[in-house]
Amino acid sequence: MAAYDLWLDSYGAAYDTVPGPLLLPCPNCGHRCLRLVFTGDLDSMVGYAHFWCDHCGQGIGISRTTIPEGAVVQDIRQAREDRQPKIPNYQLVQ
Ligand SMILES: [Zn+2]
Repeated sequence: MAAYDLWLDSYGAAYDTVPGPLLLPCPNCGHRCLRLVFTGDLDSMVGYAHFWCDHCGQGIGISRTTIPEGAVVQDIRQAREDRQPKIPNYQLVQ
């Protein structure tokens, strides 16, 4: 399976664990350092997702999704530099 598809599979699994702890192994390096943060509208709870590994610095972006209850969400109405939590400049897997 292509790297992107592995990440997409892992994203689906991570999405289903929200708001629980994210203990899945990274599809690239195997470390349990995956992070899932959404950026979106806090009223409609629609936005996009950032899914990456803090250990190897790879990840994917999901363009439009429903934000699950209890997820970590950046408020899209805030200026990009003010949004919390900070998201590192990770390498997008194609
Ligand atoms: Zn990794």
